[in-house]
Amino acid sequence: MPSASDIPALDARLTALSAGDRLRWAAETFGARAGIGTSFQPAGIVILHLAKSLGLNLPAFTLNTGLLFPETLELKAQLEKHLGITIEDLQPAQTVAEQAVTHGPELWKRDPEKCCGLRKVAVLDQKLFALDLWITGVRRDQSQERSVTPLVSLVARPNHTELVKLNPLVDWSREQVWDYIRSHQIPYNVLHDRGFRSIGCAPCTALPTSDDERSGRWVGFNKTECGLHNRPRPQ
Ligand code: SF4
Repeated sequence: MPSASDIPALDARLTALSAGDRLRWAAETFGARAGIGTSFQPAGIVILHLAKSLGLNLPAFTLNTGLLFPETLELKAQLEKHLGITIEDLQPAQTVAEQAVTHGPELWKRDPEKCCGLRKVAVLDQKLFALDLWITGVRRDQSQERSVTPLVSLVARPNHTELVKLNPLVDWSREQVWDYIRSHQIPYNVLHDRGFRSIGCAPCTALPTSDDERSGRWVGFNKTECGLHNRPRPQ
């Protein structure tokens, strides 16, 4: 397990590698304690395909909030069949109906921060105890907030222990991602063909309002992240 002082040299080493070799390092270093977290955005699809085509044993999981588009659930099934993999389906403690009883109906319309906390962040928090390496599809060109995302970093679990986070496509452009998907004929979310770019829960996803990929998320709120990727740094 690298320490904070190891991260700059590790970052430099991994930056020089291809995305596939970054994933190979992940599998060889962390084995079953590595996991690919995906919400089936284009970059996540590329990571799943790369891992499979390289024969890497990197298990994948997704946060199923119960509010995903039917098209996203259909894509999960398509990818599992196409790639011959199983993507673990992690669900919140409460169903959407139970949450409505506890916190009132349509919490996302009144307090999306709390709703994401319950339906995404708390679920990931639990999963991170089973991992030492969390692999995600975050890219720097997705938004202003993500433009300084590191390739590799340490992040904190809720109990302040540390794990490593790797964004193997952090330096890929949107065009590179789509070139990969098209050239390998990988299934993707059909909502992209209707103009959607970043696709999350149905109530909080709209067509983008600018060139910022994530501008269609939580429209009308001062919110651009669900809280998964702006976790506290280790203390
Ligand atoms: S994206 Fe919207 S519906 Fe989904 S968990 Fe967050 S606030 Fe709730």
